[in-house]
Amino acid sequence: MPTAAPRPCTHPGCGALVRDGSGRCAKHPKPAWQKPANATKRITGRRLQRMRAALFERNPLCVECQKAGRDTEATQRDHIVPLAEGGPDDATNEQGLCDACHEEKSLQEALRGRRRAGW
Ligand SMILES: [Zn+2]
Ligand SMILES: [Zn+2]
Repeated sequence: MPTAAPRPCTHPGCGALVRDGSGRCAKHPKPAWQKPANATKRITGRRLQRMRAALFERNPLCVECQKAGRDTEATQRDHIVPLAEGGPDDATNEQGLCDACHEEKSLQEALRGRRRAGW
């Protein structure tokens, strides 16, 4: 097993490098509570670019296709638990999907009656 690449703490304004894969430094442990009623604010801009690049470096292949035994290049950064359903917008809740799998997953989320503006 290769050790996880250090990533900056996801606490706003912190940026301390975290090596245990938790996404948070010692000073900013992940809150145990979540606010499912509030959709998580989506990360945008340069920070998102960095997260995408790091994700595809770690997981260059679509996770859904891999489960099915296919090697397909991941092109979409997907949230395992959708932000609209209270999932965090950080490295613990992201996976790489190909266009087809991402489309399928988005469709399933919409079918669950969770359709929101902005998708
Ligand atoms: Zn921190
Ligand atoms: Zn796929």
